[in-house]
Amino acid sequence: MAEPEFEQARKELVSTLENSSIFEKNPEYKKALEVVSIPERIIQFRVVWENDKGECQVNKGYRVQFNSALGPYKGGLRLHPTVNLSILKFLGFEQIFKNALTGLNMGGGKGGADFDPKGKSDNEIRKFCVSFMRELCKHIGPDTDVPAGDIGVGGREIGYMFGAYRAARNQWAGVLTGKGGSWGGSLIRPEATGYGLVYYVEHMIKYASGGKESFSGKRVAISGSGNVAQYAALKVIELGGIVVSLSDSKGALIATDDKGFTPDHINNIAALKLNRKALTDLENHSFRYVEGARPWKEVEKIDVALPSATQNEVSGDEAEALIKAGAKFIAEGSNMGCTQEAIDVFEAHRKEKKGDAIWYAPGKAANAGGVAVSGLEMAQNSARLTWTSEEVDEKLKGIMKQCYENCLATAKEYVTPAEGEFPSLVAGANIAGFKKVAAAM
Ligand code: GLU
Repeated sequence: MAEPEFEQARKELVSTLENSSIFEKNPEYKKALEVVSIPERIIQFRVVWENDKGECQVNKGYRVQFNSALGPYKGGLRLHPTVNLSILKFLGFEQIFKNALTGLNMGGGKGGADFDPKGKSDNEIRKFCVSFMRELCKHIGPDTDVPAGDIGVGGREIGYMFGAYRAARNQWAGVLTGKGGSWGGSLIRPEATGYGLVYYVEHMIKYASGGKESFSGKRVAISGSGNVAQYAALKVIELGGIVVSLSDSKGALIATDDKGFTPDHINNIAALKLNRKALTDLENHSFRYVEGARPWKEVEKIDVALPSATQNEVSGDEAEALIKAGAKFIAEGSNMGCTQEAIDVFEAHRKEKKGDAIWYAPGKAANAGGVAVSGLEMAQNSARLTWTSEEVDEKLKGIMKQCYENCLATAKEYVTPAEGEFPSLVAGANIAGFKKVAAAM
């Protein structure tokens, strides 16, 4: 079967490895690449549940246990009608290298189902989650495989699944992350992906401006309006930046005044999303909603773009539009947010314009903060301890800093940049992540 998303993710990694000196320096890693490209195991199962009308429903459930060289398989569960093996293999593959970049000991995996949570009642979601876990619980464990959330899976779904695991196994175990604070979750886990993304970009801004600039006064276009987009927006605002856009699956919400979104707007959006309502329900005169559009061609005079909705949400054309709009920093809150065409546009610009260029950071580095705090949640569960928000946030900042520095240093070492050129963060992330996993294997 054709697996376009997985092939895209693999090709993107392989092309950067082949254009570096990694295989010259480590010829044995060629074999490691072949080995790492095949999942250790794929579990496929059916999920039978009953809707509110008492009718029998069935969905396809999956867990891709991709690589455990560095630790237990770790990665989220996605519930979305588009879920199939190609998408879960791409996500699992990305997760291997992302998890390596956190510096923590986690392998890579991903799972989910083609279940659509939209329009479902709480009761239906609970029934689905319990049924999903009835099978999944046979294949996971705190030292085997530790799932978490992804699109369509937040604290509520993790709660239903965690309860089902405990009931089935008669065991309290740190087998899922993203749990609630009072039952073993880590503080800052909901915020972690968005915050971590902004921390990563802060380092990019500092480097590019020789330490002179920060988020203060920067205009930031964000896509998505889920967990990643919301907390990225709040952190940008806290650091003095201006958030000029958000979006949902039906269109883009663009700020029409210079102030952009406020924390109150973001909180209202969070409440809408919790009730699975559309952004069009946000009654406000400071925005316009562009149906059927993504923000990239709608925003003007921006400095930073943070795609934080889903895969392939920036096309080659949109990448050009972002350059025209003045964007200097692009970092993915979503996994594989940019198409290969968009990455090619950014990377060509980086090489051509040198120090005055667009600088692109891939999701496997820039959005690693989420899974990093999942790793910290596993550590707290093992130690039977709870760290304060400040402690977790400090550790998250430290992890994002070392992740950024690792990408930068690795790019300099394996693809020597030309005089005045920013090192390629996409090559740096791919090589650094791959190198760690290959050595461990
Ligand atoms: N789904 C998130 C990701 O793409 C988090 C996974 C986790 O916390 O295990 O990294």
